[in-house]
Amino acid sequence: MTNNTIANAERELYLTLLTIAETHPIAYEWLTKLPEWLTAIKDKRNYAHAPAYQSSVARLPDLNVDSVNLNSSAIIINAPLNDSERKQALALLKQLMPWRKGPFQIGHESSGIQIDTEWHSDWKWERVAPHLSPLKGRRVLDVGGGSGYHGWRMAGAGAQTVIIVDPSCLFYHQFMAIRHFVGAADINDTGNYRTHYIPVPLEALPEHSQLFDTVFSMGVLYHRQSPFAHLQQLRGQLVKGGELVLETLVIDGDANTVLVPHDRYAQMNNVYFLPSVAALIGWLEKVGFREVRCVDIDATTIEEQRATEWMTYQSLADFLDSTDQSKTIEGYPAPKRATLIAKR
Ligand code: SAH
Repeated sequence: MTNNTIANAERELYLTLLTIAETHPIAYEWLTKLPEWLTAIKDKRNYAHAPAYQSSVARLPDLNVDSVNLNSSAIIINAPLNDSERKQALALLKQLMPWRKGPFQIGHESSGIQIDTEWHSDWKWERVAPHLSPLKGRRVLDVGGGSGYHGWRMAGAGAQTVIIVDPSCLFYHQFMAIRHFVGAADINDTGNYRTHYIPVPLEALPEHSQLFDTVFSMGVLYHRQSPFAHLQQLRGQLVKGGELVLETLVIDGDANTVLVPHDRYAQMNNVYFLPSVAALIGWLEKVGFREVRCVDIDATTIEEQRATEWMTYQSLADFLDSTDQSKTIEGYPAPKRATLIAKR
């Protein structure tokens, strides 16, 4: 017996976009593209593992969920788990490894499954959340939302609708696994799910949609070859007066300081522009954002990003200079992240 979790989530996404389209016809453009987007992510010619991921999600057991907490450090699904449910869920969730962004808890605290992810994504949320315009009632886009951890937190903070976009096939299915257990616990006042996931990169979305009150881009900008294109695309998704939340790697320096790692940076081979905070503020102003402010700067620790039972590859400790933790193994400044907030 298999569940209908992905089909339900897809239906809810259609319904949500239809509701938005009633007042914002641009959403019809999203609806036109949706079949293609949702088909592409299932196609094993694009993603060799897609069928295996789908089948892992589809075989997750239906639990008798007591309550769901989207507002705590771990996303918690409170449910009694019997032995066979626990074994089955654990094995299937492990098939969706590596789990990088979380944590999540399925079951009760003592006996449940703790998905201890590579990142303490809750720490990032604690740094960011106090500075946000209240999310209650807002329509939110989380660009590069990974497993969806922060998206669930946004829903927990009362956002009316959260749309996560991220091109990762694995992370999409991790989201669907959690969606399976959350069920309808995140419905809003129109009776639709609050939290949705479209498995595409930001640049695939219709430009200038101007649909969102808050747009997040956390941990994405330094992966982009064209940071200005990314910033313009983010701006185009915001309503006038809407809020951008940008979190990215930075280095020390003045308005003219930018590091472009020649090769790898902390072993990542897809890192392009690491600006200083002053340079980043200038970039945001240049593309037309106003009231730009930096609300947090934080050096990433090996407690926040580390290998766990759910992500057994190397992690930050292996990517830093073993004799000098202020440097990466390539000799660059160790990862330091800034959060900026700006208005369209
Ligand atoms: N936002 C999360 C995850 C950051 S990891 C956090 O801050 O913890 C970076 C994510 O960006 C990855 O999941 C990757 O798949 C996604 N990504 C990379 N390029 C992207 C693009 N062009 N559009 C949207 N997401 C992208």
